[in-house]
Amino acid sequence: PARFALQADKRATLEMALEHLQRQAPRSPLPSAIALPPAAPLGSVRVDADACTLCLSCVSACPAGALQDNPGQPQLRLIEKNCLQCGLCARTCPEQAITLEPRLLLEPSRRELRVVAEQPVFRCIRCSTPFGTERGIAAMIARLGAHPMFQGAAADRLKMCGDCRVIDIHTGAESRITDL
Ligand code: SF4
Ligand code: SF4
Repeated sequence: PARFALQADKRATLEMALEHLQRQAPRSPLPSAIALPPAAPLGSVRVDADACTLCLSCVSACPAGALQDNPGQPQLRLIEKNCLQCGLCARTCPEQAITLEPRLLLEPSRRELRVVAEQPVFRCIRCSTPFGTERGIAAMIARLGAHPMFQGAAADRLKMCGDCRVIDIHTGAESRITDL
């Protein structure tokens, strides 16, 4: 018999039931994970490391706190047990870097934060403050490189943090409308 009480949060009850069933399973080695059919409400997400820019849009979109950033490093992290397989992260990702993986992970790491994507930090070329990732800055340059605001020497502003960008705009030799 199970010894847990039903919780108001159905997901919490489901977690306790799964843990209970796992403890009662025959002692033969269990697989590390069991694949589940599409639309199952348990699973992981795979992130294409070559496509992800660590923009963290998926973290904002995740309604379950499954995807999280790391305030200390450019990392995307996942707590698998929280993932509902709702797909909001995959639909939000501008790089189509996320694939859902319905499954029941039977290892303790299911409850732990694990890194699913990480990148080297990018430092401001003027003050060296870390403010993004190398791939994120490269993606921004690819998107904004043709904009009139970032031509010539001003192109370097895309590699500056927000503070230095403002300082550079107000100290540089900008063309003024009154000079034309
Ligand atoms: S997976 Fe997509 S949305 Fe999430 S950080 Fe990477 S690029 Fe951004
Ligand atoms: S599928 Fe849903 S719950 Fe899972 S990580 Fe993506 S947004 Fe979060």
